[in-house]
Amino acid sequence: MNYAMALDYQNCINCRACEVACKEENGVQLGADKQRIWVGIVEGSSNGKPFVNLYPSQCNHCIDAPCVSVCPTNASHYIKGGIVKVEPDKCILCKACMESCPYDARFIDDTKVSVDKCTFCEHQIEETGTTACQATCPTKVRTFGDLDDPGSDIVKLLKTRKFFFQKEEIGTLPKLFYLVPEDETYAQQSIGPNTKIHTWEEIQPLYERAAITRSQSWKQ
Ligand code: SF4
Ligand code: SF4
Ligand code: SF4
Repeated sequence: MNYAMALDYQNCINCRACEVACKEENGVQLGADKQRIWVGIVEGSSNGKPFVNLYPSQCNHCIDAPCVSVCPTNASHYIKGGIVKVEPDKCILCKACMESCPYDARFIDDTKVSVDKCTFCEHQIEETGTTACQATCPTKVRTFGDLDDPGSDIVKLLKTRKFFFQKEEIGTLPKLFYLVPEDETYAQQSIGPNTKIHTWEEIQPLYERAAITRSQSWKQ
């Protein structure tokens, strides 16, 4: 089992329903700077016309996660499906994980006295098969699922759409798959010129090999 999320980011309308649902479902501390999930906003212009790109984001649950390897107490660790979690009782707030995360996906939850981040809603996966952010999104930006299951919605989607990763060059094997917009203008405006575009057929062997190698440390 190897959990991941595909994001049809062209559909994001920045309504922030996912942020609200995440806080409610997971008891995340209130406050704009206390978020497991967010929408990155980048403004640009093309032929003299301004535009705004929206990149909904959260923890990438990287297969080679630096936040896990730097944690001195194993508070940051993998669980089933390669989900990266933080055990609040073991967190000593040294912030090493926050400094190592290329995606700035972590924050300190003062109510838990611990670093916190997205958990892929692991507490409800088996019951609902989805996450609060996916279930709430009115424009169906997110598709969560198991990369090891050829019949999962995420694999079916990745077989039909090209995608890219944020900061792929850092080499953490991130698991947020950003789907190339079907609208060509939007794709040109929102994907950097040096961004690698992938297909499922090409990337699947790499992700499968990496998951098999690491999965012994993914506790049940
Ligand atoms: S995105 Fe950051 S917090 Fe999430 S697994 Fe990767 S390095 Fe860790
Ligand atoms: S802040 Fe907590 S989770 Fe992060 S590295 Fe330190 S002990 Fe581990
Ligand atoms: S998967 Fe769950 S914990 Fe992660 S951002 Fe979505 S709602 Fe929050």
